[in-house]
Amino acid sequence: MAEKIWLSSPTMHGEEQKFVKEAFDTNWVAPLGKNVTEFENEIARYIGCRAAAAMTAGTHALHLAFKLAGVTSGDVVLCSDLTFAATVNPVSYEGGVQVFIDSERETWNMNPEALEEGLKKYNGRVKAVVVANLYGTPAKLDEIVELCDRYNVVLIEDAAESLSATYKGRQTGTFGRYNAISFNGNKIITTSGGGMFLSDDEEAVQKVRFYSTQARDPAPWYQHSEIGNNYRMSNIVAGIGRGQLLHLDEHKSLKKAIYERYERAFADMPVTMNPYLPYTEPNFWLSCITIDNDAMGSVTPEKIRLALEAENIEARPIWKPMHMQPVYANNDYITVNGDDVGADIFERGICLPSDIKMTEEQQERVIKIIKGLF
Ligand SMILES: *Cc1c(COP(=O)(O)O)cnc(C)c1O
Repeated sequence: MAEKIWLSSPTMHGEEQKFVKEAFDTNWVAPLGKNVTEFENEIARYIGCRAAAAMTAGTHALHLAFKLAGVTSGDVVLCSDLTFAATVNPVSYEGGVQVFIDSERETWNMNPEALEEGLKKYNGRVKAVVVANLYGTPAKLDEIVELCDRYNVVLIEDAAESLSATYKGRQTGTFGRYNAISFNGNKIITTSGGGMFLSDDEEAVQKVRFYSTQARDPAPWYQHSEIGNNYRMSNIVAGIGRGQLLHLDEHKSLKKAIYERYERAFADMPVTMNPYLPYTEPNFWLSCITIDNDAMGSVTPEKIRLALEAENIEARPIWKPMHMQPVYANNDYITVNGDDVGADIFERGICLPSDIKMTEEQQERVIKIIKGLF
């Protein structure tokens, strides 16, 4: 059987080990240390924000973002519906209630029209909005920022999948008051696991460092006036991140080349690539297609997935929308004109192999298998 082709797997370069070795050599294996501080500074500089705090997971950065936004028992958070559960689960950690906002069709992200309906419907109860940039494609951020300002609610940007993507020339992860990125295993760069909280509010970043190290009061003994967490990234893990960051732009251009090869190959086929706005530059983390309506049936995303799997090639369904998840069966969901866009993309869509170690020949094989099904 031919070598496995992955959806998106870690790509290491060697510099990672240099930073990790340095941590060993100086015995800064734990707790914090130079790699953590430098990794935070380097990411903040790359993104163009004032400060950053490294966490053991992107999920934890999001959790502390909700906490800082003041989300508490019974508060509503308006959330992207078509996303990974990690965008929305931490709302529950603070006792908040998720209300899901449907996607638009131009970026697959939060529909500003549906968001406005949610802001009106829950006026007075909404503490925050969390918007994800799905598969590395920036959402309609100007419209979403404007609405959050108008209704005076905190915007949290989940840029976990979109590190290095830009919107009108500005990096994603800078549009929220609080922002999160992820370095999980399959993301555009990885630390094996980890994430970061980003903000221009340096006091907020200090607060996140405090909560993520068990909320210790400044006393010689262990004294606590608040409940904290153990969320801080280790100096070893940060070393991997520093090495990876040197290759972020290279990863992005390889991802883009993969997307464009699919786009060319499928130009005259009844499928559509995951779309983006002309004034945005996605990081093309995952290339996806939806099958056009008139071709659906004889070919389905599941048929494509199984045909690829039979050839040792990994493809994955689109994230199943949050409003379709059993755990959120009782949460409200807001769509425009009764059109359930998230469910439609989920039914007709699939994520294709987007691994940057995939050769052109391997990608040609993937394309040929898919074309053969139509
Ligand atoms: C990966 C991901 C997260 C969570 O990041 P972790 O580092 O895995 O905790 C959050 N939101 C989205 C959209 C993601 O894809």
